[in-house]
Order: sequence, then structure tokens, then C-alpha cells
Amino acid sequence: MRYDNINPDNFLSQISTINPGIDTRLMGKAFQFTYNAHLGQKRESGDPYIMHPMQVSFILADLGLDSVTLAAGLLHDVLEDTSFKINDLKREFGPEITLLVQGVTKIEKYPYHSSSTRKHLQAENYRKLMISITRDIRVILIKLADRLHNMRTLDYLQDDKRNRIALETLEIYVPLANRFGIAKIQWELEDLSFKTLHHDEYKKIGMMVARKKNERDQYITTCKEKIFYLLHNNNIQAEVEGRSKHFYSIYLKHMIKKIKFEDILDLIGMRIIVNSIADCYKTLSLIQSEFDPLDKSLKDYIQRPKSNNYQSLHVVVSDSNEYKIEIQIRTRQMHVIAEEGIAAHWRYKEFYSCDRKNRKGEVLVAEMQNAFNQQLSWIRNLVREEHHKDSDSFLDSLHLNLYPDIIVVRTPGNDYIELRKNSTPLDFAFKIHSDIGFHCIGACINGKHKPVRTTLKTGDVVSILTSPQAKPSKDWLSIVTSAKTRQKIRAYFTRIELQTAISRGKELLTKKIRKHHLKLKNQDELLHIARVFKINDLKTFYAALGNEEITFSQVVEAWQKTQEGQPKAKAVPEREIEQLVLTMPEITIEEIDHLMVRFAKCCHPEPGCDIIGYTTRGRGITIHRTDCQNHGFLNLMKKEPERIIKVAWKKIPLKSPHG
Ligand code: MN
Repeated sequence: MRYDNINPDNFLSQISTINPGIDTRLMGKAFQFTYNAHLGQKRESGDPYIMHPMQVSFILADLGLDSVTLAAGLLHDVLEDTSFKINDLKREFGPEITLLVQGVTKIEKYPYHSSSTRKHLQAENYRKLMISITRDIRVILIKLADRLHNMRTLDYLQDDKRNRIALETLEIYVPLANRFGIAKIQWELEDLSFKTLHHDEYKKIGMMVARKKNERDQYITTCKEKIFYLLHNNNIQAEVEGRSKHFYSIYLKHMIKKIKFEDILDLIGMRIIVNSIADCYKTLSLIQSEFDPLDKSLKDYIQRPKSNNYQSLHVVVSDSNEYKIEIQIRTRQMHVIAEEGIAAHWRYKEFYSCDRKNRKGEVLVAEMQNAFNQQLSWIRNLVREEHHKDSDSFLDSLHLNLYPDIIVVRTPGNDYIELRKNSTPLDFAFKIHSDIGFHCIGACINGKHKPVRTTLKTGDVVSILTSPQAKPSKDWLSIVTSAKTRQKIRAYFTRIELQTAISRGKELLTKKIRKHHLKLKNQDELLHIARVFKINDLKTFYAALGNEEITFSQVVEAWQKTQEGQPKAKAVPEREIEQLVLTMPEITIEEIDHLMVRFAKCCHPEPGCDIIGYTTRGRGITIHRTDCQNHGFLNLMKKEPERIIKVAWKKIPLKSPHG
């Protein structure tokens, strides 16, 4: 929520309307102190500086935070931008607020440093921020509120500074907001950064969203009513709302998943908020029976919450031809946590801490504490790790930790490889190179032999054992976690199966043709027959035969069909049937029969196609297709062209079986 009419003259009464329970004495004092401290200072927008801390305080009030946080929000720039010192704050406001303000204060600003010192200072500032967060989680909330207001007023800065801040926001603060589950702030930060960094795309999406807006809105209204009555008639109390997608998520879907803008926009977002978890599942089954759920679209984040504690059921259904509906189903509490994340946890914890006599309160405090610890443990590990002393490795590690679904392992050569959480050595092998993957026979993790289905952890040193003879096995499909790798393996098996089917089919056909003395002149005729089965290439035709999808008697039938309309073929007496036979100049056909003649395995010459012969040393003559692309053969031809002899096929009448 944005508050545009904030006025320093009645700050207290304005902020009380959002958060009626605030401590007005503390807030009044913090406001006066900040007001005087920043007196005379101006923002780039020309506004008096006090507007910034006031806005920060309002953003925090909107997250339902307590007076201490709101007061610290007001005071957050006092140490950095005025002459007041830590002791001044301690004396006036005590240790709790001072610690919060100190937590969001940078060690040193870095406008005039070389880029390497600047990077070092930046790393130190992030490290300090992370340590402060482990002391009091509210530090990150104040920092995010500060960044949000700075992003809202970014337009007043110069281009290069604006881009730098937007980039930092996207790289650090957006993932931080995400890790702490504060979607409300994350989305706004994303869109503001996106607008700054990719202004044209931002405008383009804006125009596209506007284009069919009325039609879409109308559909949402109809859909909302339909769902509402469906639930109402089944005694489920629910709130149903349409939700708009923010521009950055549209952009990412388009860029990363390569989905067309039109298709993204035709996906309508709906949210159903119910009273209990049981109602969530009841709602899901009603939705599934009323609409057409899309295959594999169900995601159960209630059973398996995201790492930032996000919970909901997601399902995509279709209703009309044009639109698909992406539905989220959750309880009220899940909804609050989905929007406000750690801020909501903090609030609940405070609320229930006051009510410890109540057993439910105690359970909830423990639950919230648990959620806190979980979210803080990665930061504690990050700042504790010794080898992150230099700024590069600290920044790398911070970046990686900001994306909780990624793990990083190392090769023995110290290259860092990013993988998805729950990846196995097989995923690692394929990520390095498909050839390593396909020939993998085992893995070494941190110097020990481990099965390829072991789950890897960040920091593992992994090497892959390969053998040139090794081949993928089918159970790999259930071991790898990356969809892309699974696709590669599946493609491998499809390829192998196809090849086997093709050669089986070819062999079968050649044998039967010979056996039945079928007068098949050339490949064109075979292709003719294939087309009867609606197949347009010979490989597929052979494969169909090899897989017994087509039988030989069907082929004969089809062949006869292709012969119809060519009456001459029918009446030919058997003894006059011609056969294609290999001929060589100066050599009689009978002699050829006694020569050692082999057909090359590389190009499989077949009767009817253009061929040449190659005289081998002691192994007779090998017949290749004239367009054979086999490298070995091409080389031989170049080196010893005199060994090439002309060969051809000739039609000769078959001997009559009786003659
Ligand atoms: Mn600030």
C-alpha cells in the first residue's frame, strides 16, 4: 500500500490510522528527534528529508509491526546522514532501538573509491547487515522498507546511479525479500527495478496488459461468482478474488520459459481463501470436479511448504477455450504469511508471547520460533564460515544463499558448479558434459566412492568415474532431478530403440522380399508402399516393421495396391520377372557370384541405388553407395583411387522355377 499524502504536521494521527495500537509517546519523540536531525536536508526529489523516514515508517506500519520497529524506521538514517552518534541514540531511546538503527547503518559510504575497494566495502556492508539480522530480524524489515521507498523515488537520480541501485535491488534485496517471504515488498521491488532496467519491455507489457483488460476483467468476475457459489452450495465459507500478475513475473515467464505473452496473459489468476486446511482440500476437489484440471498442474505447498514457509495449493484448470485459470487455495493465516512472511511470524510471536498462559499460545510461539530459526540458520552459517573472509567468496556465497533452491558443489579442479537442490552425482555429470553423463559408472564425493543416487550438498567436492563402454541405464531416469537431463537420457533410449527397430525392420524386409521374390525395383517404390501407411520416410517405415506395427503381409497387400493401375506388372509371367543384380564391367555375373563381394555396413547399399566398388587387400570387393559419407572410406578413396571399380545393378530375367 502506498501513502501519498503523508504530512509531517500530523504524522502521529496519520500513522495511528494504520496501526491504532502504537505507542504515541515513543513515536512522537522519535519523530521530533529525526525531524530536528535532518532539518535542512533535502532528498533528490526536492522534498524535505523527513519525508523519507516517515515513508519508511509507514511501510513498516503497513506490515503491522510494533512501535519500536516504527521508531527505528524513523531514525534509520540518523547515524549515517547526520552528526548524531550511537551514544546519543542510546541515551535517548535505549539499546533496542539503537541496535536496530545501527544494524541498518552502513560501515562507510563508498562514493569515491576505486572499484575494488568499493566491492570490498560493499561485501563488508552486506556481511554487517547479515550479522545484524541474526541479532534482530527486524533489521531486514527496516532495510527492505528503506530500499522500497528509495526505489519508489528512483526517478530523481541520475541514470548511472539509478541503474546501479536497481541492479543491486534485483540481485540482493529482491532475493532477500523472497527468502524472508515478504512477497508484498518483493513484487514492488521487482517491478520498480524492472521498470528502471528494462524500460521498453516494461512499457510493452503494460500496453499488452491494458489491451484486453476489460474482457479479462469481465471473465474474472464471472469466474469469481461461479467459484463462490460452487463453494457456498457445498457449505464452504470462502473469499474468492482475482489477482493480477506483476509485470516482472510476466517478463520472466516470457524470457525464461519462452511462453508467448498472449498465453501468459490468457492465464487468469484467482485466489481462494478458506477457514481451514480441511476446507483447502475440499475446495480443491470441488474445483477439480467442476473444471478441467490441467495435467500435472497441481502443486501441494501445504504438505511441502517452500523454504520461506509459503503454503498453498496451486492448480491450473481450464474453463473456456481462451482462458486458463491458475488457482491458489489457502487459509487466512497462510495468506498473511504468503504476503508478509517473516514480518507476520514476528507479529504472531509477539502476540502469542503476551498470552503464554494459553496452551495454544505456547505451541504457536514455539512454532514461530522454529520458523525463525529455520530462516536464520543460513545467515548464521554464512557469516560464520571462515573461508568467506575475502569479499569475493563472501559475495559469491551470499548470492548462492539468496537462492535457496540451488546448491553449489566443486570439481576437484575447484570449479564451482551450480545445481538444483536434491541433485545427484548423475545430474552433476550431465551438467559438466553429456558424454561424461552417458559414460558415468560411479562417483567420488569428498574422496569417497558413493552411489550415483546420493543427494549432493553445497560444498561437496565431486568427481565422476567414467568408462568408454558404459551406457545409461533406465533407472537413471528416476535418479536425476533435472528435467533437462532426464530429457537427454530419455532421448538416448528413444534413439537406441529406434535404431534397433530400424535395422530389425530392414533385415526382416530384405529377407522376406528375397524369400517371396517380390519385384521391388528401388527405394522409390518402397517409399510408395510406405505412403500407403501414411509414412513419408523409409526409416520410420523400417521402424514400424521392426516394431511389428506393420506386418509383411500388409506390405505385400500395399504393394499390390500400388501396382494397381499398372496392369502390365500383373500379367508378367514369373520367369520373365527381372531382378536387380550386381554387375561389374568386364566381369560376368556368374564370376561375380564367385567373387568375394560384401556390402558396406556404413551406408547399406540396396538394389537400385548408385554404387561403387572398392577392391580390398585380400577381402574381395566392398560395395558402397556413391554418396557414402564414411570418413574412413572417403580417405581411402582419396589415397588410392585406383582401387575403385565401377559397379552397377542390372535387371536380369529370373530363371523360371520350372526351367
Ligand atoms: Mn534511508
